[in-house]
Amino acid sequence: MASVRFDGVTKKFGDFTAVSDLDLEMGDGEFTCLLGPSGCGKTTTLRMIAGLETPTSGRVHIGERDVTFMHPKDRNISMVFQDYALYPHMNLADNIAYPLKVRGENEAKRHARAREVADVLKIGQLLERMPSQISGGQQQRTSLARALVYPSDVYLFDEPLSNLDAKLRLEARGFLNHLQRDLGMTAVYVTHDQAEAMALATRIAVMDAGKVVQYAPPLEIYRRPATTFVANFVGNPPMNLLPVDATIADGAVHLKAEGLSAAPLPVSRAAARALQGNGKLTLGVRPEHLAVAESGERNMISGQLFANENMGPETLVTLEREDAVRFTARIFTDDSLALDGKVTLGFASEHVHLFDSNGTRLP
Ligand code: ATP
Repeated sequence: MASVRFDGVTKKFGDFTAVSDLDLEMGDGEFTCLLGPSGCGKTTTLRMIAGLETPTSGRVHIGERDVTFMHPKDRNISMVFQDYALYPHMNLADNIAYPLKVRGENEAKRHARAREVADVLKIGQLLERMPSQISGGQQQRTSLARALVYPSDVYLFDEPLSNLDAKLRLEARGFLNHLQRDLGMTAVYVTHDQAEAMALATRIAVMDAGKVVQYAPPLEIYRRPATTFVANFVGNPPMNLLPVDATIADGAVHLKAEGLSAAPLPVSRAAARALQGNGKLTLGVRPEHLAVAESGERNMISGQLFANENMGPETLVTLEREDAVRFTARIFTDDSLALDGKVTLGFASEHVHLFDSNGTRLP
């Protein structure tokens, strides 16, 4: 096992900067998720660890080794791809054992080790089959087994679950979490699925346009998103965001917007200084922190009922305001809620997030 470190790494394709001046240290035994929308540079970052791309500038280290220009096969890494990339003409046993064959292990040893890993991954009974004769979930586990058959310093995953249907995906996610607990491997895992990152990562690097915008443990990212981009990306449904006018008085910020009543919120001196008396802010509240308001609550927002979706254990109630901003409440009840016309949602002050006009969280 080993740590991975990026020092000032930039990767350009022609004039286009895919990864921009990246500094990132992923600890030994950590499971790091690179999370972000399509095109933000996640895969390029992963491929630079693998040696499938070379940085335009900067350095990549695995443990103490500077691997910036090292050939992929000398890096002692394993990679699991989105499309599994199994060899169609080999049965599962040979597919799984392939990394050992490349390293010159004899056949008996190769097959014994392949069986061992396949048993752990619950595909031991399928070893004689060809890839075309097994399900997508089994192919995914075969590809995982091939990555785990040889002890590597770092395991790299490029959206390995994205070709699975929703049910298998959940099962495979739980399995990966279990594996990580067992093996304590150093892993870097690319995904655009925030739930996957929350469930698997010890730390998440949220990326946007070639940069890491926040790098923190999952709960920290959920509780204190650094920007509106992160707030919007992590959480399902995403955080509700509303532009508001803000005035500082008596060490508290007073928020104003049509259809909003909000109790003054104490703010730090740094935030008060940044606001310089008054200005525009963005108010954020997560759907799970909103409920249908009782009259006279301290914090309330109103609008017309837009949607009322009962999902079984929870109901999503969405209102639409005059300014077309929608607010969704995630209410944990298996009763359907009888609502119509004007709806008012309430929230507690402790669940308010505030961001400045650049979308950066107030200090
Ligand atoms: P996705 O989730 O869609 O895979 P990503 O976050 O992994 O996205 P990358 O694959 O790292 O994104 O790509 C980052 C940007 O760099 C994209 O705009 C992509 O089009 C561009 N890019 C990637 N590889 C190349 C290449 N070989 N040549 C030119 N541009 C590239």
